[in-house]
Parts: sequence; structure tokens; C-alpha cells
Amino acid sequence: MTINVTKAYLPPLADYEAYLKGIWERGWLTNNGPLVQQLEAELSSSMDGAQVQFTSNGTIALQVAIKALGLTGEIITTPFSYVATTTAILWENCTPIFVDIEDRTFCIDAAKIEAAITPQTTGILATHVYGYPCDVLAIEDIAQRHGLKVIYDGAHAFGVRLHGRSLLNYGDLSTCSFHATKLFHTVEGGAIVVKNEALARQIWLYKSFGHIGDEYFTLGVNGKNSEFHAAMGLCNLPRVADFIKQRQALAAIYRAELQQLPLQFPVPTEESLEYNYAYFPILFASEAKLLQVKEALAAQDINTRRYFFPSLNQLPYHTGASCPVSEDVSRRVLCLPFYQQLESEQVVRISQIICQEMTA
Ligand SMILES: *Cc1c(COP(=O)(O)O)cnc(C)c1O
Repeated sequence: MTINVTKAYLPPLADYEAYLKGIWERGWLTNNGPLVQQLEAELSSSMDGAQVQFTSNGTIALQVAIKALGLTGEIITTPFSYVATTTAILWENCTPIFVDIEDRTFCIDAAKIEAAITPQTTGILATHVYGYPCDVLAIEDIAQRHGLKVIYDGAHAFGVRLHGRSLLNYGDLSTCSFHATKLFHTVEGGAIVVKNEALARQIWLYKSFGHIGDEYFTLGVNGKNSEFHAAMGLCNLPRVADFIKQRQALAAIYRAELQQLPLQFPVPTEESLEYNYAYFPILFASEAKLLQVKEALAAQDINTRRYFFPSLNQLPYHTGASCPVSEDVSRRVLCLPFYQQLESEQVVRISQIICQEMTA
């Protein structure tokens, strides 16, 4: 039986059907319906009361966020993220300026940001990689001193808490992805998490065609999401705490089974971190070793993912300045199968194949 790197969670069908029944009764399918409102309210209370706007995906959330903050010119960003982080910047006609990552957390290296600031810089867009936080306090300090806006791509950060508050509450705003492959999902979906009221209204307009009823305020796109997607979110949200516990247990097994091998793992630097166990990445000593193990696992029908590869400063359609740490890490990092429905025996088996391949 094939083991994939992730497996979308499906709630008991009866739970979803109960929500469908309500949708059928109301005949209200989309456009800020009651389930969307309920999901936004529940998400908001899990994020210390910040406003949460449910969007059609995590990519449109990034694009709308960039536009709503009025970013132009250059945006300082990380080369170690999913491609959507960079393409959202390009799509909004801004230039991504890549700043290399830290070798412990794989997040943007805050100590290198200031050297990249120019008169054209308007913002910073950084990713909490695998759910490990960026150095949010250092970034906030730099942004304040240089008058820059801060967006966090929190696609991996759902459920993470730092210094006692939701990690999605830092920066001017955070975006999130609720894609089927993510820890918490709504099939397709995403969110913008924002505290400032005026900014929240601007975001709402941008993602809702720029008008309310017959009153037209601004340019807009269609970035909203439907009752069907909200229903999936409402089914999954109460289970996220259990997902995290189950993943924590599986991560502990991987760690124990792999501990003798010459592998590295990302190291969180914040003591107050409450982590979400979103992914299980391992860093090999060389790309050759990675490819060898990846192939050995694939031969047993076990799929892994080079996530993230390539380093985004090396995209074929937009090349940025060299980022040696990111380029090196992206060549050597592999995400192992990791989802709460994975069985401990499967984790042991995957680990044993890796051990055999690396000690042969
Ligand atoms: C998944 C992901 C996105 C894109 O989210 P979609 O909902 O798939 O559009 C953006 N950034 C990161 C870091 C991601 O992992």
C-alpha cells in the first residue's frame, strides 16, 4: 500500500452531512453565509480575538494582503518557502529581494535583513517554515525603525503559539492556507488574520469585488470562500488539538528511530514555543544521500517530498541574488510521510528503511 507524504483528513461523513442539511435548508451557498461567519468567529477566538477573514486559498490571501498594505517596489522575503510566497509578490508587480535563512530554524535570517533595505523597500514577507517561528521580535524592531510593513506567510503555522499568543497574531497581518494537505484544512481555503480595523475593512473589500451592495469603493477580486468549505473547516477545527497530539507522538517515534543517523533537524530557538508538528523534515549530509534514501523509500511505495526545493532565488522565471544557506538546505532537506492517521508501525518501518539505506 502506498504511503504518501501527507494524507488529507476526512471527518466522519455524518458530521459533514449535518452541515450539508443546513445548507440545503437555507439555500445559501456562498457570499458570507452563516457557516463562513461561524468558522471565522471560531478561528478568531482561537487566535486571541484577531479578525480572521476566510479566503478561497492561501495564495489569494497573500496577494490581497500585499495589495491591502499598499506594498510597492521591493519586498524583502525568504528564498526558503513554497513558491506561492514569491509568486504573490511578483503577481502584485513588486520585486522580491531574497534574504538568506538561518541554518537552525530555516526561517529568514533577521540579522541579514537590514543590509537588504533600500529606499524602494516597503515591506517584509517571511514564512514560519514548517511551523517554526521567524524571529518575530527582531523583525518587528527592524520594521518599526525603517517604516516597513510585515506580512507573515503562516501557511504552516496554524495552531502554533509563541509567548502565549497565536503565532498568526504577529506582524501587520498573517496569511494562512487551509489546503487539503495542511494540518487544518477546508479542502481549499485560507485566511488573513489582521488586528487593525481599517486594514481589515480594506482587505474585506479587496477580496469581495470592492463593493458592498450597490456601493462601489475600490478595485477588488473574488477571494471569498463558500459554505461547503466552511462546513469542512467546522468539522475539522475541534479535532486540531488531537491532530497535534497524535503528530507529536509520531514525531517522537521518528526522532527515536533516526537518532543514530547523521541527520539534522530544524531547531526551534524560542523557549515559549507551542509547536504544531506540521511537518517532519530531515536534513541529510549531502544531496546524494537524500536522493539515495528517497529512491529506496520510493521502491517500497513510500513517497517523500523535497519541500522546499528549489531555493526560490533560483526559479527559472525570476532569479535573485545568491542565498548559500537556503540553496544548501533545499538541496539536502526531505519531508517524510507525516499525518495523524499514519500508524506508529509505519513510522518505524519508514525509519528502518532509512537506517538500512544509510548504514549499508
Ligand atoms: C500551501 C502554502 C501556500 C499556498 O496556499 P494555497 O492555499 O495552496 O494557495 C503558501 N505558502 C506556503 C508556505 C504554503 O505552504
